[in-house]
Amino acid sequence: MSMFEDIPVDVGVIYEGERIRKEDMQVEFGGSKKEDKFELVRVKKPEEVEDGKITIIGSDINGMAEGSTHPFGIVIEVAGKQLEPELEGVIERRIHEYSNFIEGFMHLNQRYDIWMRLSKKSFQKGLNSFQYIGKVLQRLFKSELPIIEKIQITFITEPAKVKELHTEALNIYEARDARARGLKDEDVDKFYGCTLCQSFAPTHVCVITPQRYSNCGSISWFDGRASARVDPKGPVFEIDKGEILDAVKGEFSGVNEIVRKKSLGEITKVCLYTAFGYPLTSCGCFEGVAFYIPEVDGIGVVNRGFKEVTVNGLPFSTIADSTAGGRQVDGFHGISIEYMRSSKFLKADGGWNRVVWMPASMKERVRDFIPRDIVDKIATEDEASTLDELKGFLKAQNHPVVERWREAPIGAEAKLEAEAAQAEEATQTMPIATVSTLPITAGGYKIILKDAKIFAKKVIIIAIKDEKQEKR
Ligand code: SF4
Ligand SMILES: [Zn+2]
Repeated sequence: MSMFEDIPVDVGVIYEGERIRKEDMQVEFGGSKKEDKFELVRVKKPEEVEDGKITIIGSDINGMAEGSTHPFGIVIEVAGKQLEPELEGVIERRIHEYSNFIEGFMHLNQRYDIWMRLSKKSFQKGLNSFQYIGKVLQRLFKSELPIIEKIQITFITEPAKVKELHTEALNIYEARDARARGLKDEDVDKFYGCTLCQSFAPTHVCVITPQRYSNCGSISWFDGRASARVDPKGPVFEIDKGEILDAVKGEFSGVNEIVRKKSLGEITKVCLYTAFGYPLTSCGCFEGVAFYIPEVDGIGVVNRGFKEVTVNGLPFSTIADSTAGGRQVDGFHGISIEYMRSSKFLKADGGWNRVVWMPASMKERVRDFIPRDIVDKIATEDEASTLDELKGFLKAQNHPVVERWREAPIGAEAKLEAEAAQAEEATQTMPIATVSTLPITAGGYKIILKDAKIFAKKVIIIAIKDEKQEKR
């Protein structure tokens, strides 16, 4: 791409989805090891933005030790006649997409949860300054979103400054989220959809309604509307609700139709307010996961930032792996924190009355939105760290799920569900890998498979530490 002639590495859509392992990384920004990290877009007045300006506060990449991890912030200020503050969230979400276009640069998650890595290889090729990353972002933003007329970018790695701005960013996110509260799904004819995450999860379609914030927690219904208006061909689009097929579960004919189309026929039915049966697909950048706990017939919730194991003995990462990939997994459901503040939160499953466990810090974040009569009956890691402790706690508190235990012997329902799922799986061939772009280099040619699915009878994974490869 000639647009990037002066950038030492390649830039293009084929690098999206590229993962950088720990051994291959030169430096890392944010992630679970650093509390302070954020990305923020602000719409400004034209006179407040100096187009093309890049500022670095703190060390630049070439001043960082190999293998090190840093607190990190990026502030992108944009101006343009058609730009409105409601577009900030959507423009901000594009940071994820565009920075992943850079060869050897990986960006995961969003807002206060971002995690980035630069590969040793790209560093050695000369990608040793934020100046380059800034230039790439500025050019991509301006060419892809022409309504951005001026753009300036600030990278912050100086720890005290990241900390200060991180707090500010959290307040800005909260103000954005609060704007969408109060509006009900019943009040609107249109929902919005987003397929930005299809580069990582090719069958994933987010359905964004006033009461169901996007999985990543960065795009509200208002943001979706603003985006679809200025960039109708972009990844965020309008959905006609169509007919209400199930008001409790949140099934709409218009949603089914568009999800089928956008997932290329993979997903045919979606129920918005449930974690069971046909939940919304989960990509990978959800802020949290709601997971079914068959032993108590309740739902646990865990967020990305929770570092310990959850009450079922699994850490967030394992639960996230069972959930992600653009699939509909019965009982594993990617969610945003803001969705937990909605009265439609898991409505069809019993809402908060079905939630039995969540991390204490997460509970604090949404406490005001949990009904008074249930809030103390939901366990955290302080009350229960094993399923036995959880059972005891729920019983002692007379949590509403205890009622369900009397109706059906515990586990019976789950067993049936598992059997049904197994039977279904046996009749289907599941792809072992699904990738949106799979570059293969052979004999001097590069072959790119778009939306490839790989089927295999058997998968053999062999570590190739010592050059000697085994073949079977
Ligand atoms: S999680 Fe959903 S709304 Fe957020 S970027 Fe991905 S597809 Fe779009
Ligand atoms: Zn995603």
